[in-house]
Amino acid sequence: MGYGYEGGRSGGVHLIIPRCNILVRLQVIRPFDPWRSPLCTCPRKYSLHPYTGCSHFCLYCYATSYIGRRPSQPKKEFLRRLSRDLRRIKPELVIELSTSSDPYPPIERWMLLTRKTLEMLASMRFKILITSKSDLVKRDSDLLLRTPSAVMITITTLDNRLSRRLEPGAPPPEKRLEALRELSKKGVPVGARIDPVIPGLNDDPYMLEKLVGKIRDNGGRHIVTSTYKARPDNLSRMTQAFPELGSYWYRLYVKEGKRLHGYLYLREELRKQLLKPIIKASLSLGLTIATCREGLGPNYFRAPSCDGTHLIRYHPANTENRGEIK
Ligand code: SF4
Repeated sequence: MGYGYEGGRSGGVHLIIPRCNILVRLQVIRPFDPWRSPLCTCPRKYSLHPYTGCSHFCLYCYATSYIGRRPSQPKKEFLRRLSRDLRRIKPELVIELSTSSDPYPPIERWMLLTRKTLEMLASMRFKILITSKSDLVKRDSDLLLRTPSAVMITITTLDNRLSRRLEPGAPPPEKRLEALRELSKKGVPVGARIDPVIPGLNDDPYMLEKLVGKIRDNGGRHIVTSTYKARPDNLSRMTQAFPELGSYWYRLYVKEGKRLHGYLYLREELRKQLLKPIIKASLSLGLTIATCREGLGPNYFRAPSCDGTHLIRYHPANTENRGEIK
């Protein structure tokens, strides 16, 4: 999926268990910490990636500047290491799959690594947040119904042709909407990421409003959105694929933009302008709406959580905590 990346991948991270003050080393689960950005508003949670790399090959992907651009590969001895980590983490925090690689790449269809991961998490009643661009997630609704969970599907455009160029390995937008519809019909709470909004590509206000309407009509309750933030590698891929927009992006990002926490941001007024149609349409349709790493203030953040964690409270298996998700 790709909206976050945490550092320290080399050999696990350490976690202090406060009750007994013991230092433990986690191997595959990470406390979520996206670039240590002070603009991140995510609640405390863990992130988990059964796969490394991502076969969706989105041009704008942020993770590639940290881990390179390669197809999805299962992590070595993942399930064994996961079962060890699960005994060491706080059970009340949500586990998100995944923040810097999609948990449903095409090989998951037969490899079933994410499915086996969910089996393990559901049997221990962990709270799960799935973020994906693939309709394959609907295959696992049986497991997602067994434990408090929610699913956020990323949809950047309703335009198939544009989606094929921008996200060449990911399923088309209508498949993603279908996944929202089927999951929500079965009782799994769902929402969507409209992320990133890229000037000149998927920023038509009418189309964005239409997209919000489709998300709502297919069962979505929450939207999180964000403007495209440039890194040298993703900007170069985007410019190669859309040469006609190269000088436009150069002006907006390099000349007029602002460097924030390692990323080139558009100037604030332009970011507000791009996101406003999504905010207005979401509010008028009764959806909760938030922005991701924008820092635009409360008018651009009308939700209990940005990432969709709060949707878990609507899950039929969530008997505790109905009012508040930690
Ligand atoms: S789905 Fe796209 S943006 Fe997300 S990790 Fe994969 S390539 Fe990157």
